[in-house]
Amino acid sequence: MSQQEQPTKQQVTDKSEEAMIEGILEGSPDGIGVVVVRLDCGCRKMAAVDKKGEAASKVIMYRDNALTICDKCQQDNGAFTRVTAEFIHWVKPAPAPATQKEIEIKVLGSHTTH
Ligand SMILES: [Zn+2]
Repeated sequence: MSQQEQPTKQQVTDKSEEAMIEGILEGSPDGIGVVVVRLDCGCRKMAAVDKKGEAASKVIMYRDNALTICDKCQQDNGAFTRVTAEFIHWVKPAPAPATQKEIEIKVLGSHTTH
């Protein structure tokens, strides 16, 4: 992936993630975005966030084309050490960049190194 062509850190969701995101947002009317966490095993963790950066849904874990998440995730519940990517998929229209930043720090910043 080329960094130069991307003015923001916004990452692109894949098809299966989009379907999950839509489902989560349908059940979370307060959600203005969905946190997407990719794990090294291929499972995903997702949760809706509201405009204050609070959780607007339960954390959902799933694995493509599988009925259950993998054994590893069942044991460690998707440990942060195995996260390969995490970002927020914003509902359009996305909030102002400053608000996005605030929520990102609140939601994603707590366990990254400063
Ligand atoms: Zn897994």
